[in-house]
This record gives sequence, structure tokens and C-alpha cells, in this order.
Amino acid sequence: MKFQVAIIGGGPAGYTAAEKAARGGLSTVLFEKRALGGVCLNEGCIPTKTLLYSAKILNQIQGSTKYGVSAENPSFDLPKIVARKNKVVKKLTAGIRMKMKEAGVEVVNAEAQIQGKNPDGTISILCGDSVYEAENLLLCTGSETIIPPIPGLSETAYWTSREALESKELPASLVIIGGGVIGMEFASFFNSLGVQVQVVEMMDKILGPMDRELSAQLQAEYAKKGVKFYLSTKVTAVNGTEVTIENADGIATLHGDKVLLSVGRRPVTKGFGLESLALEPYRNGVKVNEYMQTSLPNVYACGDITAFSLLAHTAVSEAEVAIDHILGRSRKMSYKAIPGVVYTNPEFAGVGKTEEELQAAGIAYEVKKVPMAFSGRFVAENEMGNGVCKWLVAEDGTLLGAHLLGNPSSELIVTAGIAIEQGMKAEQLKEYVFPHPTVGEILKEF
Ligand SMILES: Cc1cc2nc3c(=O)[nH]c(=O)nc-3n(C[C@H](O)[C@H](O)[C@H](O)COP(=O)(O)OP(=O)(O)OC[C@H]3O[C@@H](n4cnc5c(N)ncnc54)[C@H](O)[C@@H]3O)c2cc1C
Repeated sequence: MKFQVAIIGGGPAGYTAAEKAARGGLSTVLFEKRALGGVCLNEGCIPTKTLLYSAKILNQIQGSTKYGVSAENPSFDLPKIVARKNKVVKKLTAGIRMKMKEAGVEVVNAEAQIQGKNPDGTISILCGDSVYEAENLLLCTGSETIIPPIPGLSETAYWTSREALESKELPASLVIIGGGVIGMEFASFFNSLGVQVQVVEMMDKILGPMDRELSAQLQAEYAKKGVKFYLSTKVTAVNGTEVTIENADGIATLHGDKVLLSVGRRPVTKGFGLESLALEPYRNGVKVNEYMQTSLPNVYACGDITAFSLLAHTAVSEAEVAIDHILGRSRKMSYKAIPGVVYTNPEFAGVGKTEEELQAAGIAYEVKKVPMAFSGRFVAENEMGNGVCKWLVAEDGTLLGAHLLGNPSSELIVTAGIAIEQGMKAEQLKEYVFPHPTVGEILKEF
């Protein structure tokens, strides 16, 4: 069977590419070995946000008296929360299946194995008993949880994000190894439901490369809610419910009825014949140029496999760029303004450069910081809530970075990202009319 485009992996990168390619008139086959939607829809972005929304509603009811509303004894039913999450996932993945059908994509629900490059330049892919020949191949195999070699871990029934999303019973206490975005979102969820949460992080801050100052503020918010943090701390052993940690203070043991591992994810590059193409690697993924081409021009890589950004919206953009290139439209992938969001409560979002990046690059900048409380809408909706809007601005007024703490930062960051991507100056952004009263007005309050 011959196709103009073959895509391995049906996550955000794969299904976006497949739909665009087929709608662009290219014969397209999409291989997915598990479920269409990939990690994002089935066990990542959407399920976590669905659970977090239930937790947010509970928190709002618990705090409702601050708004003059009383609701007595709010409670929750975890199996029902998880069942609703599954319903949301089912609905959205069915939507993807429908889109593929409508666009005319041939979807093959099985594992694809690359066999190699043929003398005419096409790539052969084996799936079941059938061999597919593709003029262009897109690698969209995503990423998987890193399982570090911590002594005792393999003998312990620990959770990764996958198992945590399916938990039907709450542990009384939870030790989260890794204080990155995924770790913090789970910390938020379980803390909201009354679980005693401890977060162990090897770095001296939570949330990896995100703005240091606001990361510390978010950490302080969660410390107030009872989450315990151990920074600059290494887990040296796990023994059932005991987690041994080591830091400058020495060695200690934490108790957690459950251990959740979230130390990061790594690109899926093994087990499907990728070696046969001998592509140039980048970190532990595949190297690409600005059109998402690998070192073989008719083989593209998009999404987490590029080891670059590991975000669903990056995967989608990369897939669009790759298909545009195959269709002969020259558009380069830009990483200048990829927003990063932590869906905790309050939300935390950043886009563009951080102070650390600007300092490392020797770029002069000014910090323009205003409390979210300068927005009337924020005050109306966030009784006692804290928040910050922080812009990093170049000497000539160009907007370089935006970092926001407070709800709904996940929505406000879109405007900031567009302004940065467009190379706008602060004064230009201020000329736009923002609806009043919105929290978004804060973006021009500096
Ligand atoms: C808990 C969690 C929460 C997250 N939250 C967010 C969030 O809020 N926002 C965000 O932007 N990102 C989030 N992410 C990251 C996001 O899920 C990924 O960046 C995104 O899914 C990457 O898309 P992808 O298309 O590259 O790969 P994936 O979504 O990983 O899809 C790859 C697919 O390829 C398939 N596959 C692999 N090998 C083969 C083969 N040989 N044959 C056939 N099929 C194959 C896999 O089965 C999989 O379905 C989260 C991740 C996790 C784990």
C-alpha cells in the first residue's frame, strides 16, 4: 500500500498532522497502537484538568462563605470524579476519530514498525501483515515516563501519572517524587481532596525552568495549604511506604501511603525500528530543522519525540509546520512564545523569556510587576487571593517575557504570547482595547 504521508503515533502531533495532510489532498495513513488522542487526551492534559476542575469546585464550595454564600458539609465521591474524567476522555477521543474519518485519513489501530528506506527514497513500514510505503513519514511517537533507578522502587507499587489518574481510593498520605508541572498538578489535586502531600524535588526550586520568583510564591501558597516541600533533596531509596531522602541536612525518611513518581518524560525512540533510518539524535530524541525535517528530508518528527518542549500545543504547531512544508508552503516553527501553564489553583503561566534566560544571555531588561489585585474583576472573584503579573521588557520597550500567577493565567497568557511572538512593544499592547472588567486588563496595567 502506498501513501503520500504515513504518521506513526495518534497523539496531538499525529492526529493534527493526519487531518491537515488529508484535508490538503494527500493520501494519509495514521498508525496508533493504543488510543487515538495519545497521552494528551487519554492520560495527560485533559484527564488531569478534568480532575483538577472537580477539585476546584470543591475548594470553591469550601470557601464560599467568603462570598456570602453558604453550603454545608461539601463532600466528594472519588469514583464519580474519575468516572466523569473517563466520560470526558471518551467524548473527546470519539471526536478525534470522527475528525479522522471526515478528513479521509486511513487509521490503523496497531503498532507500526519501520523497516527502512527504499532505493526510491520511500520508507517502508510494517504493520500487522501489511507493508506500507510512504513518500513522507512523520514520527509522532511521543514520550513516556522516566523511571529512575532508585533502589527499592521496582519492588514498590508506586504510581506514575497513569495510575494516579485511575485511583479510586484516596491514600491518606502521598509522597510525590518530582516537583515539576505534573508533580505540582497532582499535588494540587490530592491536597484539595485532603491527602497529606509531600513533594521531593532535586532542584532548588519547583517547576523546573519557570519563573523563579513566582514558582516560590506558588510553593508558598501550597505550603499554606499543608503541602510539605523538600527542595535540593534526592530520593535515595523507596521501601514500600518509606521514602529515604538525602539533602544538606542529612538523611531522613518520609512516610507515604502511596508514592507518585513524576521526575520527567523521555521521547519514545525505541522498539519500532527507528534505528534503521540512522537519524541524527538531539538529546534523547530526534533532531529536526525549522520545518520539522529530520536528517532524512522526507522523514519529519513532531511533538515530544523531538525532546524539545514536551507540550501538546507545541506538538500541534510542529505538526502543522511539517505538513505545510510537505504541501510546499514555507513556514518555520517558532519557539519564541510557547506558553507553559501549571493548572494549579491559583494557575501559573509563563511565556517568552525568563529573567534567568535573559541574564544568561546578557540581555538588559526591566521588570514591570503589578499585583493582580489591580484588576477589579480579580478582586471581585478572588477574595483574599494573591496574584502577580510580571512583564520583562527590553530597553527599547519590546516585550520579552510574561509570567503570571493567579486565575485565570492559563487564558491571559495567550494574549501575552501573541504580543511577544509579534515582537510588540509595551506601548503598542497598551493601545488595544481590552473588555472591562476582565482580569486580562492587568496585562496593560504596568
Ligand atoms: C499527566 C500529564 C499531564 C499533561 N498535561 C499537559 C498540559 O496540561 N498541557 C500540555 O500542553 N501538555 C501536557 N502534557 C504533555 C502532553 O501530553 C504531551 O506533550 C503530548 O501528548 C505530546 O503529544 P505527541 O503527539 O508528541 O505524543 P503522545 O501524545 O505521547 O502520542 C504519541 C502516540 O504514539 C503512539 N505510538 C508510539 N509508538 C507507536 C508505534 N510504534 N506504532 C503506533 N503508535 C505508536 C502512542 O501509543 C501514543 O498514543 C501532559 C502529560 C502528562 C503525562
